[in-house]
Amino acid sequence: MKHLIPYLQDDRKAADYLRQLRWPAGVTCPRCGSDAVEPRERCDNGLQRFNCVPCGVRLGQQFAMFTDWTSSIFEESKLRPLEWLLVIGLWQLKLNATAIAAATDIQERTAQRCVNLLDGGLYETYHLDPTRQLEHQVEADECYQSAGSTGLAREVERHEREPRQRGLQLRGRATAEAGRPPLLGLVQRRDKTDQDAPAAQVYLEGLENVRTATIKPIIAAKVKGGAQFFTDAYNLYHFTEANYDHRTVNHGAGEYARRDPDGTCVHCNTMEGIWSGLRNFLDHFKGISQRFLHLRVVRYEFLHNHGHLHWRQAFEAALRCILATTGDYLQRMVHQHRRMPLTLCYR
Ligand SMILES: [Zn+2]
Repeated sequence: MKHLIPYLQDDRKAADYLRQLRWPAGVTCPRCGSDAVEPRERCDNGLQRFNCVPCGVRLGQQFAMFTDWTSSIFEESKLRPLEWLLVIGLWQLKLNATAIAAATDIQERTAQRCVNLLDGGLYETYHLDPTRQLEHQVEADECYQSAGSTGLAREVERHEREPRQRGLQLRGRATAEAGRPPLLGLVQRRDKTDQDAPAAQVYLEGLENVRTATIKPIIAAKVKGGAQFFTDAYNLYHFTEANYDHRTVNHGAGEYARRDPDGTCVHCNTMEGIWSGLRNFLDHFKGISQRFLHLRVVRYEFLHNHGHLHWRQAFEAALRCILATTGDYLQRMVHQHRRMPLTLCYR
């Protein structure tokens, strides 16, 4: 985080740093995209104002103003640029809202909202990015994360039941409805022969249930055809034989890894390692509502996939994603009080 110190001197410096990340090639109008913009006086909180000349002409006005934060997820926020920069730095250090609130001297509720905005920004621009696909050697596995619907009286009412116990004591295949939402994990193994290869690339998706019909469209969208595809010997994945070189290890029979005659190592150990990393990460949050589970998970996904980079590079990559976000996804999520159904994401 040391590289942030020069920008944490005052609001102007923080705003300048964030602007540079949003518009590395020069400021353009968020409404029309024109670069015919002229800087005006700063706002009280240090944000730079700009006047867009083409928009002014189009609207028949003398000025058409926008600021550093117009049409970004920060637009509605009352936090100052310096506070935001500090919050984002601590957010990337995987702190929870309580710790961020204490470290930045803001209210815990505010910190929680900030964290949701940042995670939601990553979800919208990084997680849902249709161009991000896995290839070569891909492992798939599921895990179950206990998550309730804490604090959401409306949810409890809707199901006409008692507030549920977190489903730790349940047996069998868990579902979101039963309080243990399954997660599907896909990971592209790191190419160990290439020193400069990025970290193993992972894709984590929250599921309503573990059925072929649920996971098939996700795998089809995220894993390139022809890849080697490793799973345990679980009939859930049989459909992948059509498009992938599907190989299985039989965990039930005590087989965890083997080398096939063609030299391929068949195992899901990369994914197992990621699950334990994810559990560690989620433990920081001391109980997660189902509504927000996928937002925390996407932060882990992003940080894992950028783990080979220097802290500053990963930080700026995250910020570029967040600054490219309109907040559309989050708006919809907040208004519907639930996560967007997967069917909307994979059409
Ligand atoms: Zn414009």
